[in-house]
Amino acid sequence: RAKRQAWNVCSTLTTERPPTTDTSEEKPAAPTKELPVYHSGTSKPRVVVLGSGWGAMSFLKSLPRDAAESIDLTLISPRNYFLYTPLLPAVATGTVEERSIVEPVRRVLKKKGKYFEAICNDIDPVERSLVACFPPEAGLDEACFKVPYDMLVLAVGSSNNTFGIKGVEDHCFFFRSITNANELRRRVSECFERAALPQSTSEERKKLLSFVVVGGGPTGVEVAAELHDMVRDDLVKVYPDLIKDVRIRVIELMDHVLSTYDRAISDYTANEFSRGAIELVLNSRVAGVRKGEVDVINTTTNTTEVIPFGACVWSTGVAMHPLIKKLQGKLPGGTQTHFRSIVTDEYLRVIGSEGTIFSIGDAATIAQGKALAKAKDLFWEADKDGNGVLSLGELRDMLRAHSREYSHFAEHARFLDGKYGASRWGGMVASAVSRGKKPVDAVVGELTEDTALEEDQFRDLLEKIDRGLRALPATAQVAKQQGEFLAALLGKGAVRQGSQIPADAKPFKYSHKGSLAYVGSDKAVMDVPTVGPIFGWGAGLMWKGFETYSQISFRNIFLVSLDWIRTKIFGRDISRV
Ligand code: FAD
Repeated sequence: RAKRQAWNVCSTLTTERPPTTDTSEEKPAAPTKELPVYHSGTSKPRVVVLGSGWGAMSFLKSLPRDAAESIDLTLISPRNYFLYTPLLPAVATGTVEERSIVEPVRRVLKKKGKYFEAICNDIDPVERSLVACFPPEAGLDEACFKVPYDMLVLAVGSSNNTFGIKGVEDHCFFFRSITNANELRRRVSECFERAALPQSTSEERKKLLSFVVVGGGPTGVEVAAELHDMVRDDLVKVYPDLIKDVRIRVIELMDHVLSTYDRAISDYTANEFSRGAIELVLNSRVAGVRKGEVDVINTTTNTTEVIPFGACVWSTGVAMHPLIKKLQGKLPGGTQTHFRSIVTDEYLRVIGSEGTIFSIGDAATIAQGKALAKAKDLFWEADKDGNGVLSLGELRDMLRAHSREYSHFAEHARFLDGKYGASRWGGMVASAVSRGKKPVDAVVGELTEDTALEEDQFRDLLEKIDRGLRALPATAQVAKQQGEFLAALLGKGAVRQGSQIPADAKPFKYSHKGSLAYVGSDKAVMDVPTVGPIFGWGAGLMWKGFETYSQISFRNIFLVSLDWIRTKIFGRDISRV
């Protein structure tokens, strides 16, 4: 009886199989500790959401009230708040305060379900249960428990991509969390204070005040821009003697930064940076990092330069989350082979999970297999002359015509546009493709003006395109739309019907609204479909307005607005508290 009581950790935690008899003689040692199992005590379908980021919060916020009432919802995440990542670079320099861009999970969840602060470290897709533990970093006793589910929503995001380069983990600052932003803010301040000491030599000062950002994507560009603003607006007043030694460098593999944006935007950013004294180290890759030094190889000249630094920020894209990797291995063989994320169908159901696991955001990639089944129809629809041969133009028209249905077709159509004349859009995508987006390049890039595909060849091409599985970009925009989609699916009764997709539900379709980035000195760049590139002060104002208005709650909108005003009037708080 005493044993049984010990297992009932609290009223809501019960063991699935409480030990009733002592079996130690038959089994000498229990291989694993049996964990308490969480049951809410209702008979409603159990929906468990992992994560409290963009995907999960968008799902929660959009979940219709009646859908929430008809399920037993549990949210598990080691982070008990939502973080508005686009303003993280502004937090690193004190332009915006950290509290302004976070919102407690419990406030978003309200009465829709239960929240546990825990990290899921294992999923059993056969038993339909998971194991979660109170985060060990908290310094309290470890507490693990099991949660059975009928439907699981994976919204655990991604992890840092170091490309296995030596020294990155130990000597660089990653840039994904509030802790990361605070660490950088602290380090910059430490570097200036150390450089200001009387015994600091000129060489030491130059090293301490050298700030390196690896990765010229939107995050890297924004971190460099925010750092530059802080130096120009605030640090110059308190360390006037040191400013001449400050260098901010962005290391980028391609020949220009913001490579997924319109080329005009990349050129504008490069121009702005050169005027503001941010140096772009282009066509360069990092070969290794040591304490205070990074080895950079110029891929054009094949020469190596050693760049000393006081702080080095690593922002080179995302890699697969370890939990996703573990789950991949547990799903039926051959169903999960993607290198970055878990593959779902067009309703965001993880392939191989029998419709019980859904995945959204950075953790997910949508498989596009339906076009293949329709290949014959598509072929004959596209073959305008009816001669059984598809010309390049006909192929392009087909890709365009069906780009809404199969979102990856849109990119291929634009690639062809770019390769064989046509629109600005096409040119932009083509240049992005030629700079490394291999799947599109490899599959469609082989086509020539004389391309004439017969039905079999056409099917073969579609198969290659489908196998290329172009993942949607790892952005908040995608995660948010997927969260909304999933909430609507539940609203239509997907869980009540045992994960059957309701007949009136349409597949998920991503709608790209545009891309923004802050480039410093109150200026920004915007790449908006159908409108085109916008940059300068006006874009800066729109960027600020957008990032303020898009906060998750009115409280955050208010706090962020106050931060912009505070920074303009009083400058940034550069103290290290
Ligand atoms: P996340 O938002 O990363 O959330 C993952 C959640 O899962 C977190 O709450 C985490 O604590 C939790 N979690 C992790 N592991 C576990 C586990 N084992 N068990 C349970 N929970 C777990 N995108 C844009 O569209 N526009 C931008 O301007 C933009 N700017 C960005 C700036 C920065 C600095 C960064 C880092 C990213 C930016 N992004 C931007 C990208 C965007 O933040 C991500 O694409 C988005 O957060 C992905 O959402 P998600 O829900 O998949 O994952």
